[in-house]
Amino acid sequence: DVPSTDEKEFKGHDMLAPFTAGWQSTDVNPLVIAKSEGSYVYDINGKKYLDSLAGLWCTALGGNEPRLVEAAAKQLNTLPFYHSFWNRTTKPSLDLASELLEMFTANKMAKAFFTNSGSEANDTQVKLVWYYNNALGRPNKKKFIARSKSYHGSTLISASLSGLPALHQKFDLPAPFILHTDCPHYWRFHQQGESEQEFSTRLANNLENLILKEGPDTIAAFIAEPVMGAGGVIPPPATYFDKVQAVLKKYDILFIADEVICAFGRIGTMFGSDKYGIKPDLVSIAKALSSAYMPIGAVLVSPEISDVIYSQSNKLGSFSHGFTYSGHPVSCAVALEALKIYKERNIVEQVNKIAPKFQEGLKAFSGSPIVGEIRGTGLILGTEFTDNKSPNDLFPAEWGVGAYFGAQCEKRGMLVRVSGDIIMMSPPFIITPQEVDELIEIYGEALKATEERVAE
Ligand code: PLP
Repeated sequence: DVPSTDEKEFKGHDMLAPFTAGWQSTDVNPLVIAKSEGSYVYDINGKKYLDSLAGLWCTALGGNEPRLVEAAAKQLNTLPFYHSFWNRTTKPSLDLASELLEMFTANKMAKAFFTNSGSEANDTQVKLVWYYNNALGRPNKKKFIARSKSYHGSTLISASLSGLPALHQKFDLPAPFILHTDCPHYWRFHQQGESEQEFSTRLANNLENLILKEGPDTIAAFIAEPVMGAGGVIPPPATYFDKVQAVLKKYDILFIADEVICAFGRIGTMFGSDKYGIKPDLVSIAKALSSAYMPIGAVLVSPEISDVIYSQSNKLGSFSHGFTYSGHPVSCAVALEALKIYKERNIVEQVNKIAPKFQEGLKAFSGSPIVGEIRGTGLILGTEFTDNKSPNDLFPAEWGVGAYFGAQCEKRGMLVRVSGDIIMMSPPFIITPQEVDELIEIYGEALKATEERVAE
């Protein structure tokens, strides 16, 4: 049950519980989710919550899409498993690969490789790029550049690529071949009088300087989320990706687009790359690929890279990499159905129809004295609480401003993602106008309660 109804005391279910998952024990008081329906989830006591984060930015089609359930059941009844090693495969896996390669049009892609998660997709990217450079006889071109505050996953390499200190400290990460460049957060990092374009130019220059300092021949690839997600929902400043891509091109450095959050309509285009003119060489996908009904991730590979890997003159032999569940037929069947639904329902158009209501409705709270910035695009939005409208005047961590806001939302029947004093939301693509109204109303009430708390 809800621990307390007292506004001042209600702390929710430990909003600032450490970043950890997978561990379960009985000595904590977690919020136990038992059922989902459309944009809502229900806890074990039957309390209903508007799921403003779509699980973890992933249940794009909401909580009870029957076609996905039927697709899974049908596949389970036909062929629950076969692998995709040694030139064996399954029809759903083949069909999903064709579909994805056709759907991704920002740059031509020739091959798809399936994983179980976004982290595995990004780990696979590193091995692919290394293999590619080894096949080309340039074994020293091995370093990766990622960005501060990025999130690319939790395995050793994807956590290394991530730019969040909590994922590095305590683990002896990042791995030494992984470097980080600036976070493109204009509001927080621009200099006085600097326009967005000038800020982007400065960041591209910093990237170039890093490449030159390390030696261009040692840098293999750059990885970026089109809109940064877990680092605080950070859309790129104007001209940023154009300028970054010009630098990468100059030094023959590959671009890996981490589309794990942005793909399939989240930011108002089928892929994040479409929105910002990104022409990636490699793409990572997961989450909404199956609307999260089954675990699956994918890597898309450009023809230039796959041609090298599969060329007759490649003396390295096969790309020795793969998972038992790569291309799992049930995951692939569900993902195929999800893609079919995105197309049939014109999901991108649907997102673009509802997004202005969501963005404008929430950005209307920007004047709040405890809001530093509200930012986002499409159906993804971040709110950062700071004092005096300044990125530098952080509230003392012990005040728990973000956690208090999150608890106030939870009490009123809405789940948000809390990360320090940043609140993140990315509702299902199927959210209705009435549900957006409800989301905005709860947000407004929680904000008011938080303002009062801070003013005390
Ligand atoms: N990349 C991005 C951009 C993500 O947001 C995430 C997860 O949130 C990942 C990769 C890792 O995906 P997974 O948790 O499926 O391993």
